[in-house]
Amino acid sequence: MDENTAPRENRLLASLAEADLHALRSSLRPVTLDSGTTLFEQDERIDQLVFPLTAAVSLLTVLESGDAHEHVMVGRTGMVGFSALLEDGRSPFRALVQVPGQALVLPRADFHSAAADGLRQLAARYSIMLLRLAGQAAACSANHRVEERVARSLLRLEDLTGRDAIPITQEFIALLLGVQRQTVTLAAGRLQRAGLVQYSRGRIVIVDRDGLEGASCECYLTMRRAEDRLFD
Ligand SMILES: [Zn+2]
Repeated sequence: MDENTAPRENRLLASLAEADLHALRSSLRPVTLDSGTTLFEQDERIDQLVFPLTAAVSLLTVLESGDAHEHVMVGRTGMVGFSALLEDGRSPFRALVQVPGQALVLPRADFHSAAADGLRQLAARYSIMLLRLAGQAAACSANHRVEERVARSLLRLEDLTGRDAIPITQEFIALLLGVQRQTVTLAAGRLQRAGLVQYSRGRIVIVDRDGLEGASCECYLTMRRAEDRLFD
């Protein structure tokens, strides 16, 4: 593995005890995740854990109409598929790759190692933290303005991918926020004119991070702190 696919690039893996991480290391397989790939379908039995490094994955609820609602996004601070750690674990969400990039995969067959207990404890704490984030996102979409939510999402995306130029589409941001694409375009345009972000050729760059934090609602810092507490 090169330094870009080192397990410690994922903050959750990095927080495991040294001996646990060492025991898992040979089972972690680097993969490239393409945008638009479904990692798990809703209610599907899961046979692997995915630890994003530079990719970002949306966890979605899918309605009978086919419409999907995003709850939370997972990147290098988390994992996808933690219900695989239970017997007969099924995915509560559809897991859809939104930002392409690298990840590490741990097959279910390799869970029964000395590291499994450490990983299960971490997954339990992580799943509670994800509930916290999903609750915050639901309250945010009901109460805060679109422009604030676009700012919050872009800041989260930078934290979750660790990338300066993030390849995303405005359709993705619209899905993320549950609003019309045109509404996102207008909000993103205002942030760009204010000199906070630059969007071109499907990539977004945060130019003024402090300014963008100022343009976000309280939810960005609340989410970041909830995540940081997991690693205290
Ligand atoms: Zn908010």
